[in-house]
Amino acid sequence: MRMKWIADHCVSDGDFQLCKTCSSKVEIIGAYMSIHDPRFGDTCAGSGRVVRLVIPFCPHCETRPNEYGCLHELEPHWDGSIHLRVRFN
Ligand SMILES: [Zn+2]
Ligand SMILES: [Zn+2]
Repeated sequence: MRMKWIADHCVSDGDFQLCKTCSSKVEIIGAYMSIHDPRFGDTCAGSGRVVRLVIPFCPHCETRPNEYGCLHELEPHWDGSIHLRVRFN
């Protein structure tokens, strides 16, 4: 999750990831995401399963991501990967 974001926005400094733009230390939050059933389309309904995701963000350049959101599974991709649509409440 957000590995591309890390590659695009961060420079590594030993144990820390620093923001490329402002050199602030990137913070990490744990977000709880409900998994919603694609059969209900855009409706937020599902089995009640929840996953915890780790989301890095720059406290200086970005607003703190919401710690609760949901994932909607999309049609399986041609290569077999599953694409998820992420929504933050
Ligand atoms: Zn939802
Ligand atoms: Zn920054």
